[in-house]
Amino acid sequence: MNDCLFCRIIRGEIPSKKVYEDEHTYAFDDINPQAPTHVLVVPKKHVRGLKEAMAEDAELIGYCQLAAANIARQRSIEDGYRTVLNVGPRAGQSVFHLHVHCWAGEICNGLRDRAALRLFQVCGFALEASPRERQDPDSTAHILVHNLGQKKLSFRPKI
Ligand code: 5GP
Ligand code: ZN
Repeated sequence: MNDCLFCRIIRGEIPSKKVYEDEHTYAFDDINPQAPTHVLVVPKKHVRGLKEAMAEDAELIGYCQLAAANIARQRSIEDGYRTVLNVGPRAGQSVFHLHVHCWAGEICNGLRDRAALRLFQVCGFALEASPRERQDPDSTAHILVHNLGQKKLSFRPKI
C-alpha cells in the first residue's frame, strides 16, 4: 500500500466523482476544473510520471488515451477535446501518479491567463500598459487576454 493521492482515490479511500473505469484505468472529475469538462484519467498501476514510465508501461499510457476517447464518446464531446499530460513540476505536474487531463469546452480564465502570461514572458514583448500593470504579471496577463479578445492589442518590442 502506498499513500499516493491518486492510488488512494483508485482504492476508494478518498472520494472522487467517478466518470469511467475499466481493467487498466480509472477516471474522475478534477476537483478544480479548468474547463466545463475536466476529467483525469489515471492508470490503475502506480507510475510516477511519463518520464519514469518504462517500455512495459507503453500499453497503459495508450489505454489512458483510449479511456479519454471513450469518455468523449459518452459525453458527446468528440468534435473537440484535448488530452494533456503534464511532465515534471516545471510543466505543472503536481501529483506524481501519471494522469491524462481530458478537457473540453472553453478553457477557463485561469488557464488562459497563465498561457497568455507565458506567451508574454517567452516573446519578451512589452505591453502597452501602465507601469503599475507592468509590475503586476497577473494583471498584465489579464489585460493581455482582454485586449486579445477585444482585438485591440498593441505590442511594441522591448528595447
Ligand atoms: P497536474 O497538475 O499534476 O497535472 O494535475 C493534478 C490535478 O489533480 C490538478 O488538476 C488538481 O486539480 C487535481 N487534484 C488534486 N487533488 C485532487 C483530489 O483530491 N481530487 C481530485 N478529483 N482532483 C485532484
Ligand atoms: Zn499512485
